[in-house]
Amino acid sequence: MVKKALNPLKIDYEKCIIEDRLLQIRSKQNWNEPDLARVWTIEIEARSSKPIIDFIRRRLQPDDPLTFTHIKRIRKKAGDPKKLVIIICSYDLFNSRSLVYSVLAESNVLFENLSDENEVPRQGAPTKELMLEWSRKYWPLTWCGNPNDQILNDYTFDMSHINKMLGSISDLAQLEADKGNKVPIVTAFVNPQEKDNPIYAIDRRTENKCTSLDHSIMTGIKLVAEKEKMSDAPSGTGAYLCLNYDVYTTHEPCSMCSMALIHSRIKRCIFLQPMQVTGCLKSSSGDAYSMHDNHLLNSKYEVFQWLGDEYKSPGVDAETCC
Ligand SMILES: [Zn+2]
Repeated sequence: MVKKALNPLKIDYEKCIIEDRLLQIRSKQNWNEPDLARVWTIEIEARSSKPIIDFIRRRLQPDDPLTFTHIKRIRKKAGDPKKLVIIICSYDLFNSRSLVYSVLAESNVLFENLSDENEVPRQGAPTKELMLEWSRKYWPLTWCGNPNDQILNDYTFDMSHINKMLGSISDLAQLEADKGNKVPIVTAFVNPQEKDNPIYAIDRRTENKCTSLDHSIMTGIKLVAEKEKMSDAPSGTGAYLCLNYDVYTTHEPCSMCSMALIHSRIKRCIFLQPMQVTGCLKSSSGDAYSMHDNHLLNSKYEVFQWLGDEYKSPGVDAETCC
């Protein structure tokens, strides 16, 4: 359950809004359709369940990458009340039948029908109704509250820094608009090790010698790469250019830019202006990809929309990719 008292921020768990300003953006797909994980199951006599459960807790659970707090390990076998079906471990832990057999041999428990055909939701359901629906459809679950409450509670924010960054990108974008830039979109990249030294990037697609791909985020990633090249000190980010960076941008990014942020392994993106036609983060924008929270991709980042009207972003055409 959520330890609400530990987070000093004001969190509206129902509306997913922090400090009345930051709206958490997640894929709607994740809420209604579970991401499924294959599990290994066996069938045993009901009276011999205790030794195998003890064995699973001791030998398998500590190493299993799948969390089972929202999943019931045991269910009755359909049509045979004397038999139980038990989840041994996830397919993520052991992907070979022979390996599972050899581990189970250590338990000295009689079992039959070792199977890898069952699937369970990787995360608990957001509502009780969905929990019951998923229990019927996949495997019996338990209700532990909305898992997103814990996610909201675990966030940390430096609100004064966020305000400062949003103020500066908003001012810069206005300057660009005043200078006649037809796409006054501005992004700031903030390295967590150098919070007071952000890299600002401006959309350059209408400039001479620039291409239609020079969106502010793409320009910013290039600037981060150039800075890395110039720097003698090792960045410590390994293969990823913007590992754990915070990105502030005036307009909701397009599919190219939101994917580039996945590849760069940023931590968080905060934007001011949603782009209903071309945006790729909100589930109500574009084709509802929610690129940062898409279950088909192996990496994710946090996204928030600023709800206050303190920071203006100059208007751009609704069809413009940002
Ligand atoms: Zn873009």
